Order: sequence, then structure tokens, then C-alpha cells
Amino acid sequence: MSPNNMSKEKTLKIGIIGSGFTGVSCFVNIIDAFLSKDILNKIEITFFDKGSVNGRGLAYSTRCAAHLLNTPSGTVGILCNKKDHFKQWLLSKLKEGILNYPDIDHQHPPREIYGQYIEEMFELYLQKAVLMGINVNKKKEEVTEIGSADLGYTISTAQSNKLHFDYIILAVGGFDSEKPALLRHLKDFIISPYDEDFNNKIDKVDDVLIIGTRLSCVDAILALEENGHKGKVMCVSESGLLPRVIGEYNAKERLFITDEFIESSETISLSDLFNAIGSEYFLQEGVRPDFKDVFKTSFSPQKTLRYEIVKTKKKRFWQDSLYNTNHVLNKVWHKLDIKSKNKIIQKYLKFFLIYRAAMPRRSACKLLKLFEEGRLSLHKKPVSISFHEGLFEISLSNRTILKAKHIIDATGLSYCICSSNSDLAKNITNSELFSLNQWGGISVSTETYQSVNKGGGFSNGLFVVGGAVFGTDLVTNLIEYIVECTSKVAQTIAKNIKEEAL
Ligand SMILES: Cc1cc2nc3c(=O)[nH]c(=O)nc-3n(C[C@H](O)[C@H](O)[C@H](O)COP(=O)(O)OP(=O)(O)OC[C@H]3O[C@@H](n4cnc5c(N)ncnc54)[C@H](O)[C@@H]3O)c2cc1C
Repeated sequence: MSPNNMSKEKTLKIGIIGSGFTGVSCFVNIIDAFLSKDILNKIEITFFDKGSVNGRGLAYSTRCAAHLLNTPSGTVGILCNKKDHFKQWLLSKLKEGILNYPDIDHQHPPREIYGQYIEEMFELYLQKAVLMGINVNKKKEEVTEIGSADLGYTISTAQSNKLHFDYIILAVGGFDSEKPALLRHLKDFIISPYDEDFNNKIDKVDDVLIIGTRLSCVDAILALEENGHKGKVMCVSESGLLPRVIGEYNAKERLFITDEFIESSETISLSDLFNAIGSEYFLQEGVRPDFKDVFKTSFSPQKTLRYEIVKTKKKRFWQDSLYNTNHVLNKVWHKLDIKSKNKIIQKYLKFFLIYRAAMPRRSACKLLKLFEEGRLSLHKKPVSISFHEGLFEISLSNRTILKAKHIIDATGLSYCICSSNSDLAKNITNSELFSLNQWGGISVSTETYQSVNKGGGFSNGLFVVGGAVFGTDLVTNLIEYIVECTSKVAQTIAKNIKEEAL
């Protein structure tokens, strides 16, 4: 359904579902795009969020100072083509003495500060919108359904039914997945490390089990530590692998995985990709990488962590190169055949993520200390979870049974919509306006981020950005990626509105 032939007097309505980083980044880019395109229509933008409508979303709502940004601060500016905007903002706030954080790591500051940055930018752009005569509404409501209307679309929430919009942007991050329903209702089962009340629920001497060993698990451990927890922490996941460690970042030129390499290749095979990565690594480090070493899981977590901490004392050029592939990663993904994509998702993604979603050195040093004190342990291959006589029990495939009073679910959100119980996810799965890719994410045009409908055409005016398009793109929730996508969405909307007005 296209928002065509709209009269110039009509108020154009844009609905943004989700006011985390992606929703606010869309808003900021839309205002900038409207400014540059001289849009004359009356415009109204409405945000919907089931939580606070402030731009922080899940990642940047934390108030724990030990939760650090894991991507270099010079790459996460919210404005399109100004990657270092946040870093400049941070440095100027520190210089003015506005931020009172002693001993701050400029490259990986607390995420709470990044949250302040987004809130400030949101506020600034709300003011710009007012000056441009754009009306902005904020609704703290959970969206349950997106439907089609004669001209445009509808949004239904738990409170309101079928509100009409000409354009809708779905920016809800990931989806809650089904978790062990029985145990989740128990008072000592903590459903997320970002639960506000998290630390009040755990007595300082109680032992804790954490499910999941990626960055959310690291956050859970650091939050416990920050609160003076003295009990044992046992982390469990299928792979039992912790994220690697990110050192000092320096932008580096890539010579092999370049735009030219990607654009000149009709298709890219897995061996082409591994060769290009190998050549890039050789260029930076002077030796070829031993991929077997990369995929090795036999080292003890403590030994790996110690090794990584030592290595990041010096510059790691291959890591700079890796971070510099951010804007071409999805381009590579689009050129791979289905078999290679499947192999990456099933076999290599977990390894790729421990390198790409690595933890800052400071966090790694805190974890190593806990390992050395015998308070932290990592385990793999859980078989079952149960609850007996006031304790949670996790049985492992090697027949060990781990027991603790509390369990924290740090497995994060799911990007497979079918595995979610939310009304919105169920309605999207059944809606004619959307189609799902084979990995359970939403199919979109990667030029405009318009959703692909069940008939295979585009739902014009209906956009999806961020975690929900997993599979269509490989990397969907990195800030740099999000800014690129939201800028495409904003340009498409501004162009449509401008053309319709002519
Ligand atoms: C703990 C954590 C740390 C991270 N750290 C980094 C980092 O350092 N660097 C980096 O590049 N990336 C990081 N990321 C990746 C992160 O996903 C992105 O940076 C970005 O914050 C994603 O924003 P989002 O708006 O897409 O999702 P979210 O922040 O999850 O926001 C989605 C919003 O949608 C709302 N919502 C969901 N469903 C509905 C509904 N049905 N109706 C209404 N509202 C709804 C939610 O309440 C939420 O506010 C991190 C992610 C997490 C979880």
C-alpha cells in the first residue's frame, strides 16, 4: 500500500515503533533529511515504546558504571557521516567538567554516558522538529499489531486500536524468546541482567548461575561485582566461550576486503572470504592466521583471558582491520550463496561474535581477577535445568551438576521472530505485509529497508531496521550499521514526500 496522491493540506503521519537507538537514529536522520529536502507538508511523528521513550533502549539504560561501550567511541556517532560525533561530544563534556567520571577510558566509556548522549541528541532534534513545525508525540504503549489501511497502515496497541499512519518504521531490536516457562516464575529466576532490581534480589554471599557467556553475561558478572557480591558465579553456555578482548583501536586501511573486491565479485564463496581475511591479516601482522587456532575451544577460559589481556597491551592490527570491515560486512553477506550463509550462521557465527563483540580490556581484567580468586567458573554443554529444595540445578553433559540459589538469564533477545511469544511477533509472522527469511528475521530491501510482503513485492512506506532483519543482513545491531540503515530509510521517506508534493 503506497502513501501516494496525498493532498498537500493533509498531515502526513509517521509512526516509529521502538525508541531505542534505532528509533531515535531514524528520527534524527529524518529531521536532517527533511531539512535538506525543503519538505512543506504538515508532518506528525509518533513514537511508541513499551518502556521509557528516551532513546536509551535496552543497551544504554543501564546505570552500572562497569558496563562499558564495547565498540570504539570514535565509531558510534548518531549522525550520518560523522562517526566521531560521540567522541567529540564526550571529550568536550569532560573538558567542561560536565561529566564527573574519574579515570574514564575514552575509547570504551560507560554505556550510561552513551545513553546521556542519545538522550541529549533526542532532545536537540525534538527542538529542531518544533522549529520546523513538526509535531512529535511520545506514547508509552506496547504495539501489538501493524495492519494495512486504504492509504497507508495502522498501528494497534494494548491501549488504542488501529491508529492510521502513512509511514511506519519498526525499530524494536530483538524479540523476547520463549524461555523455560516454569522456572521463570520463580522469584530467584532473574530474567535479565538489565532487570532494574537485579542486585537487590541477590544476597551478597549467595552463589549465582548465569545462563549465556557472551557480553550480557559479562555485564551480569560486572554488575554483581560492582555491588560487592562475594558468592561464586558459575556461567554456562553451549560453547562455554567468553568474548575475546578488544585493545586500543586505530582506524586501518583494508586492502583486500574492500568495496571494489565486493562490487567486482558476482558472488563470493566462503573460500574467497577466508582468503581475503587471511591476506588482510597477513598484511597487518606479517603472518598468516591459523584459523584452526581461532576456532579452538580447548584452552581454559582463564588461560585464554590472560593471553588476550597480554596481547591487547600492544596494538592488534588485525583487530583494527576487523572493526574497519563494519560497513562492508553486510555487502559481503549479500554476495554469499545460501549454503555459505547457512554454514556461517550454524558453524562460524559464534566464533565470529566472540571476536567482534569483544569485551574492553578493563572488563577482562576484572573477570581474570575473579577467576584467580576462584569465584568465577565457566562451563559448557548444559543438558537440563531444574529446581530442587530452594536451589537451581544445571546438569552438564559431563554429569557435573551445578547448584545455586539464583539464576540469571543472560541469553539475550532472539532475532528469530517465530520463537517469540509477543503479540506483535505473532501478528508479523501471520501478516501479509511481512515475510520472514529462512533464519526467522524479516525480509527487507537492503537498499531502502522497506519490508518485503508475502507476495514478494515491497510494502512501500513500511520499514524495518535493526535486529528484526537478522538473516537479510548478518550484522544488524551494531551502531555503525544502524546509522547507515536509518539514513537510507530517512532519505527514502524524504524523497517520497518531496515527489508526492510536486
Ligand atoms: C547490553 C547491550 C550492550 C550493547 N553494547 C553495544 C555497544 O557497545 N556498541 C554497539 O555498537 N552495539 C551495542 N549493542 C547492540 C545494540 O543492540 C545496539 O547498539 C542498539 O542499542 C540497538 O538499538 P535498538 O533500538 O535496535 O534496540 P533496543 O535498544 O532494544 O530498543 C528497542 C526498543 O523497542 C521497544 N519495543 C520492543 N517491542 C516493542 C513493542 N511491541 N511495542 C513498543 N515498543 C517496543 C523496547 O522497549 C526498546 O525500547 C548492545 C546491545 C546490548 C543488548
